[in-house]
Amino acid sequence: MDVKNLVVFRKTSLVDYPGKVAAVLFFRGCNLRCPWCQNHELALASNAPDQAFTSPDEVLRHIEKRRAVLGGVVLSGGEPTLYHELPALITRIKALGFPVKLDTNGMAPHVLETLFWQKETTPDYIALDLKLAPVRYAMLGAKNPTARLKESAALIHAAGVDHEFRSLALPRGFFTDNDIEALAPLVDDAPWFFRLFQPGNCLDPMWNEFPAAQEEDSARLAKKAKQLGKRVSG
Ligand code: SF4
Repeated sequence: MDVKNLVVFRKTSLVDYPGKVAAVLFFRGCNLRCPWCQNHELALASNAPDQAFTSPDEVLRHIEKRRAVLGGVVLSGGEPTLYHELPALITRIKALGFPVKLDTNGMAPHVLETLFWQKETTPDYIALDLKLAPVRYAMLGAKNPTARLKESAALIHAAGVDHEFRSLALPRGFFTDNDIEALAPLVDDAPWFFRLFQPGNCLDPMWNEFPAAQEEDSARLAKKAKQLGKRVSG
């Protein structure tokens, strides 16, 4: 089996799909290299043994059996838009009667566009990660990030899919008010959540030496976003 087709499966989550008990599929591989990434065993496909993973087919069998307790399915990562069979997988999950939430870093707008062509492949909810000002994505290894993020945000908005924006407050003011200003035009009236960076298992070990982000770090970013008229949540 192609290793790209393997996922880590969390059978039950209360926090990954707003208002729903959900199963979560974490896809292997990512097209970014965030130094603070806590999922690098997933993001760097080569860093974890195949035995740690299972196949989407196997997962679908589990999901079907757990129909009575599950309210939705989350596709996360890594970066799920790298999975070539994503449209078919979403179709299969929705055919089982489950709404689908997609977590994405927005670097593959062409995939989102393809998903939105048909109702059967359109996620019911999307969480779009906003990491830094688009021009700073070069440090994450992104190619053409400004255009990609802009297109992804516009496609999600135009599709009318329920969605949210997510950012990680980073320590020592690494995520700045200027980043918020640069990201704000991408953010429509959907909620914008700010979470806190935690050291300990970062892709770049240097980031493990940094302190955890504090409430005041996210409060500062949230305040700036609110000043710009954004709907901050969480
Ligand atoms: S934080 Fe997300 S987008 Fe960044 S490298 Fe990790 S999995 Fe990829």
